[in-house]
Amino acid sequence: MDFRDGPDEAAFRIEVRQFIAKELGPELRQPDEAVLGVGVGEDTRDQGWLKKLATRGWVAPAWPKEYGGAGMSVLQQFVYNEEMARARAPRPNFLGIGLIGPTIIVHGNDEQKKEYLPGLMSGDVFWCQGFSEPGSGSDLASLQTRAVQDGDDFVINGQKIWTSGAHRADKMMLLARTDNDVPKHKGISCFVLDMKAPGVTVRPLTNMSEVHSFNEVFFDNVRVPRKDMIGELNRGWYVATTTLDFERSGIISAISLEELLKEIACATQPLWSKQGTQTARFELADRFVETRIAIMLSYRIASMQAAGLIPNMEASITKLYASELSQRIAKTASHLSGLFGQLGPGSAYAPMEGRIERMYRTQVGSTLAGGTSEIQRNIIAQRGLGMPRE
Ligand SMILES: Cc1cc2nc3c(=O)[nH]c(=O)nc-3n(C[C@H](O)[C@H](O)[C@H](O)COP(=O)(O)OP(=O)(O)OC[C@H]3O[C@@H](n4cnc5c(N)ncnc54)[C@H](O)[C@@H]3O)c2cc1C
Repeated sequence: MDFRDGPDEAAFRIEVRQFIAKELGPELRQPDEAVLGVGVGEDTRDQGWLKKLATRGWVAPAWPKEYGGAGMSVLQQFVYNEEMARARAPRPNFLGIGLIGPTIIVHGNDEQKKEYLPGLMSGDVFWCQGFSEPGSGSDLASLQTRAVQDGDDFVINGQKIWTSGAHRADKMMLLARTDNDVPKHKGISCFVLDMKAPGVTVRPLTNMSEVHSFNEVFFDNVRVPRKDMIGELNRGWYVATTTLDFERSGIISAISLEELLKEIACATQPLWSKQGTQTARFELADRFVETRIAIMLSYRIASMQAAGLIPNMEASITKLYASELSQRIAKTASHLSGLFGQLGPGSAYAPMEGRIERMYRTQVGSTLAGGTSEIQRNIIAQRGLGMPRE
């Protein structure tokens, strides 16, 4: 692979850099958990920034122009994402733009595209993803939430859990069981659910870093019109796998990890440089090498997409590697800071304003969200190495 920009990408990189230099003030800098991919639904609705991007079609740069995107090539989009990540720019409505919109573009009908895509682009309609249930996470196809047809509607009963951003969402992309008498993957359908519909109850769940980013959602005879089914009846599993592939290829930006690591190395230097051993330097060097590997893995995804291929187990490799690396980076930050790294925000002695302590706890979720590491390893073993199912 040739890692250099072609003339188009080089010119475009300059354009993005100039835009960032002019428009991105320090107050728009993203918090660590958003940069590291586990803060989805927390702090991503930045209307001012969104409007600035919208003037250039850069809210969803790779979407076709007919849906309000800029129709960028995969490689241009990669350059765009790289530059935005280096600058820690907000990723407005990441879940909607990164996962839900592309899924609707692939599986939605024309009416659904007209109805849902403009609200995603403008940031006026915020989405959440209702897949996991208390008994169905890794084994998602075993989900039990029921959708029973009644005239022109489906009636939904059941429960979702770990639903990021449900407390702020206007719409949910929901998976529900529409047939109990067929193999589990073949009896699921995908719906767009109005979060304000009668019978929807959202209860907050506070995570171990004391942030309310996900929720439980209960459905008590919630009516969803038939027209709001995405894809065909009982084919929802295939809609969901499209969403999961988009999620896994984009959840953690390797460039963001590298930028964060640079910041950690500089901010903690006064602490580790006094230790009098090489250990800290070696640990930092390992992390820097690993972030370069993560960047190479994401280049692989981009080059596959540019060649018209759909990454699948490659997305799992990237997700597995980057999420585990994000935890190692948080541990390294903590090692380098010694006992000071355990101080939270508010302490005058806390390195990086207490962000290290919070990062350490927040990153635990990164190897669970979007499918656990074990599940990614199973996918790599079966689809990548051709090993049998367990
Ligand atoms: C920060 C965060 C945000 C999330 N946001 C959302 C969201 O917006 N929407 C949503 O629908 N879900 C969301 N989730 C849920 C997430 O998708 C699930 O937590 C995840 O899929 C794991 O499911 P589970 O929690 O039920 O664990 P389980 O599936 O019960 O797994 C428990 C353990 O068993 C292991 N295991 C299970 N099956 C196998 C197997 N076959 N082989 C080997 N090991 C196995 C797992 O790896 C894990 O270690 C979020 C989770 C987190 C942490």
